[in-house]
Amino acid sequence: SVDAMADAVAQAYPRIAHRYYALKAKLLGKDRLNHWDRNAPLGPAGAKTYDWQGGRELVMASFADLGGDFAERAGWFFDRPWIDARPRAGKQSGAYSHPVTAGTHPYVFLNWMGERRDVLTLAHELGHGVHQTLAAEQGGLLADTPLTLAETASIFAEGLTFDRLLSEATDEDRRALLAGRIEDGLNTVVRQIAFHRFETRLHDERASGELSVERISQIWTEELIASLGPSVDLEGYENWWAYVSHFVHSPFYVYAYAFGDLLVAALMETRAKDPQGFTPLYRQLLADGGTKTYVEALEPLGLNPRDPAFWTIGTKRLEGLVDQFEALCVSN
Ligand SMILES: [Zn+2]
Repeated sequence: SVDAMADAVAQAYPRIAHRYYALKAKLLGKDRLNHWDRNAPLGPAGAKTYDWQGGRELVMASFADLGGDFAERAGWFFDRPWIDARPRAGKQSGAYSHPVTAGTHPYVFLNWMGERRDVLTLAHELGHGVHQTLAAEQGGLLADTPLTLAETASIFAEGLTFDRLLSEATDEDRRALLAGRIEDGLNTVVRQIAFHRFETRLHDERASGELSVERISQIWTEELIASLGPSVDLEGYENWWAYVSHFVHSPFYVYAYAFGDLLVAALMETRAKDPQGFTPLYRQLLADGGTKTYVEALEPLGLNPRDPAFWTIGTKRLEGLVDQFEALCVSN
């Protein structure tokens, strides 16, 4: 599955990353992007903000789109109330949904500041929360999902909420929203696959002898140029492999980021074809908790992650976002 995914992503590099960074360089008035400008925000100053009620309505509408009992379960978190959202002095930063135990209920922790990304974080954590309430029916020993599916409901809920934000945005906001979404995708999918290919080559070469710093940097640079494309200037970036702690602390882990993201993209495309047929199957996948492997869990939806075509569903989706972005660049 991982090899099929890495190949599908590498084949899509030019159509996604190379094309996007060339457009972004042009928008910033440059021939080539400096590597520190890769994620520079494109949005207008004073982007739209949301009060708690507005954020709640938007996220709840996204859960209602899914049908079934998704909105009802998401609503429990507001009504009972299982969310600690208010930032205050001394409070830890970040956000998560903690399942506690299968016999009680989850709690969502976040720091609501009313920005657009807080709306997406609320959707993300409620996705986890709803997933946890569904899987709790499996009991304490089997409620926990396998790592490959752990981010499914969260990324899915975030995706539905993003689609709503996009449909309500003005043209100017739209371009910035799309840029943010594409860059998230590039960082999660394209970049992590470049990392994965780097570490695979490094370990392969290490089997026949030690590697010099220069050689490590050479492999690193080759993989990054291949993925990001000719419009990103990587001068001075040669030794940045040293900051990716996964290479030392969790070898062969980075592919998991791309895996989760593309898996959800395939689910979202499956839903787009038949929203009503999709919901009960998706609900079952979440309610199965840790009782099935990801291959077994995806089978009822007609999806097979060992088939390269499964992964191109997600790369095509990302490509489609770049198409939309490109069209807005031309028309403005
Ligand atoms: Zn998460």
